[in-house]
Amino acid sequence: MSKSTVALVKGEDIQANVTKVFDLLGGVENVIRPGTTVMIKPNAGHAEPPETSVCTNPEVVRAVIREVRKANPKEIVVAEAAAIGCDTIECFKVSGIQAVCDEEGVETYDIKRDKDLVNVAVRDFRSNISHVKLPKRLMEAEHLINLPILKAHASMVFSGALKNIKGVVQDKVHMQMHQLNLTMAMMDVWSVCKADLNIMDAMRAASGYSPHMPVPIESNMILGSKDPVAIDRIACEVTGIDTSGVDYFNVAKEVGLGKYDLDDIEVVGNTVEECFKQMWIPYIGDMSTRWPEYDVRCEGGCSSCQALLAINMEELKAVGEYDKNAGSTVVIGPQNEIPKDIPDEKIFLHGNCTKKYLKDHPNAYWILGCPPNEPALYLTIQRKEVINGMGDQEEEIIRPCMARDAQVWHDYVFARAEEYFKEHPDAK
Ligand code: SF4
Repeated sequence: MSKSTVALVKGEDIQANVTKVFDLLGGVENVIRPGTTVMIKPNAGHAEPPETSVCTNPEVVRAVIREVRKANPKEIVVAEAAAIGCDTIECFKVSGIQAVCDEEGVETYDIKRDKDLVNVAVRDFRSNISHVKLPKRLMEAEHLINLPILKAHASMVFSGALKNIKGVVQDKVHMQMHQLNLTMAMMDVWSVCKADLNIMDAMRAASGYSPHMPVPIESNMILGSKDPVAIDRIACEVTGIDTSGVDYFNVAKEVGLGKYDLDDIEVVGNTVEECFKQMWIPYIGDMSTRWPEYDVRCEGGCSSCQALLAINMEELKAVGEYDKNAGSTVVIGPQNEIPKDIPDEKIFLHGNCTKKYLKDHPNAYWILGCPPNEPALYLTIQRKEVINGMGDQEEEIIRPCMARDAQVWHDYVFARAEEYFKEHPDAK
């Protein structure tokens, strides 16, 4: 059985790193045929500037455009469907990607505004998404280059190549994916929208409470591979992320999207040891005893909901609501016992798989989603009403509350990061 190749290059010069990655993978002509349309899919899901590391570094986008041009394509298009509720054009502008595309004479394409969609069947779907509506233009392009940024991710633990392709769907499908099982739905979308090549921006990887409160680290790497599972596996290896805490690897392995075992992956260029840079991901580990002032029950909870639990509990502290709500019961996962004598108004059920506890506790707060919206838990505890982003809540409650709390949350996270970097100076 042949191995998957992952190119790994370390250095401060972005263009030199990207060119070396393409060379190590056999040259751009090995991937792109002349006279074709090449879609480049960066991560531009949120309207945040380049220094935050929320979106793919615009200079990495430029370097990839310049490499792709060497293969004489007919056209190069930079495509994105921003996160739910975000405006793609604004994201392109604020992230700096629009300016780079203008300078390079490359079109940007807002997938969300495209009305010419095709209903693509997902064979052997895992998430109950049997069909996905995708733009005809994207599906008809001869080549797709996936261009994620390496980051910690609040609801997925880690975000790289596999997760970035979620950004080809419009909001309606995206919402549906969250309500079913996002991990499985992401892999279902991959199975019908496969990239020819993945180039990963790890120049300033986002650690911390990314994507909304990232703490960038100087990692100075670019990775490349045709295999999305292999590149994500190596990205985790090189940043010290325990892949057993990333649920979607299990689904990707099951559906055969690529090679996961290190014995099946060949790393070319620099070695993992030469490039190693530990990420700060504060929401991995045992969650059941971390907040002793609360009754936390998380048997059977997926890594996504465990990560969200950690973020929301810390956010309660940051906004001064933690002590006020001490004694509450917070439940994630389907394998918990909830004693009958706990009053319903003290119980917060996080995620679709906790709905079953409503049978014994009909007036508990049940937050829909699989996993739920990122700040849903702390807002529900704080407001004593279910906040899950449904209906108009995203616009009317979630975004205004996040804007209100952004500064205190920022200060809290960066204070914790400083403590971590003092103890682990090599990680900065
Ligand atoms: S809601 Fe349940 S099944 Fe869905 S991600 Fe959370 S723990 Fe897993």
